[in-house]
Amino acid sequence: MPGGGTFVLSDVRLIDGTGHAPSDHASLLIQNGKIAAISTNGSPLHAPQGATVLKLTGKTVMPGIINGHGHVGLVQGTSVGGGNYTGVNIERELVQYERCGVTTVMSLGMNKDLLYKFRTDQEKGEEGGATVLTAGRGIGVPGGVPPVNVGPDQIYRPATPEAARKAVREMAAHSPNLIKIWVDDNLGKLPQPNLNVDAAAIDEAHRANLRVAAHVYYLADAKQLIQDGVDILAHSVRDKPLDPDTVSLIKNKNIYYIPTLQLEESFYIYAQSPAWISSAFFRRSLSPQLAATLDSAAYKNRVQKDPSTAIHEKALSIAEANLRKLQAATAPIAFGTDSGANPYRIPGWAEHRELQLMVNSGMKPLEAIHCATEVNAKMLGLSDKTGAVQKGKQADLIVLDADPSQNIANTEKIAMVFHEGRRIKLAD
Ligand SMILES: [Zn+2]
Repeated sequence: MPGGGTFVLSDVRLIDGTGHAPSDHASLLIQNGKIAAISTNGSPLHAPQGATVLKLTGKTVMPGIINGHGHVGLVQGTSVGGGNYTGVNIERELVQYERCGVTTVMSLGMNKDLLYKFRTDQEKGEEGGATVLTAGRGIGVPGGVPPVNVGPDQIYRPATPEAARKAVREMAAHSPNLIKIWVDDNLGKLPQPNLNVDAAAIDEAHRANLRVAAHVYYLADAKQLIQDGVDILAHSVRDKPLDPDTVSLIKNKNIYYIPTLQLEESFYIYAQSPAWISSAFFRRSLSPQLAATLDSAAYKNRVQKDPSTAIHEKALSIAEANLRKLQAATAPIAFGTDSGANPYRIPGWAEHRELQLMVNSGMKPLEAIHCATEVNAKMLGLSDKTGAVQKGKQADLIVLDADPSQNIANTEKIAMVFHEGRRIKLAD
């Protein structure tokens, strides 16, 4: 949705999303939804008649965040399931993302077909919030992953390669942005996936010029999917260290790897009362029902006694080590959170926490921001539109009170959000 007025953001520190060092004393002209001009080092920028000039000395501008792995319409309060999948609920979540500076969200499966129309309506300016992309319903395992209560109008669970091909062809007719497959057994609790079914889905998607993102957990599955031509690994490998051959294949085949570190942490971290649990930024992102749950003694007790908590902690540490290996090899590391998949993966907030976890695992703040902006735009085929603060791109921007290249937690200090040139209202 273009438009939204003419703004000059004057005298900011500019993080452009390319991974390069920030520019100081930069000014930006926003016009017709786009970044119309940029000046740096204090050189003058012509403000057209009628422009709103915002003098922002001391503030930092970065690109809007792109979440490459999220979900919409599954959660309401603390409930999860297909019954929540309505246009009203989807828009509510997309507004929450946008207010947190997440201006684009890839809804990676478990979507009803109404999201195709929602996507079109949003392009026409008839729906608000973060720009949503869709992987359609996606392809799960019969009786297995994803273990979410959604019906056949929201996921395919093909038992044979031919059924998988048919599912892909049905989705392809709607021009999804990606095809999603789930390859996992949920820590051995659910039936094994059939990799022949997944190979057929990948082949059929490629025949339709669609790329495939795979939910993975195990190294062995990731290796097979790489052989079968998968384009995106939508989670970290979390059972074993990545071996050098797999690292090389990911790099040389240019397979995007989305770490989703917050996913593992989300199983237990809130019960450990971290310092940020009372921060205004976190609290703003919680529904009243979720806040009540997280604050309850019953919840903390349950998580502390749950034997899988230790497994999730271990999985996170393996994921962090694998991220370090891929980074050392300069493999394409993208960005996503799995927010919206269940109540504990909190839209908008999770993306900022994910940046912090990527930095905790060894990335520099500008590198983590690069993954969440320019790299993700490339992964999603949006490079012409967004992902970097550059002349001609959409004005998808976050204005921050402090510089996240110094401390990644400063991405939470949001002063303003612009999405396609519109200044977004940050609260009701
Ligand atoms: Zn997911």
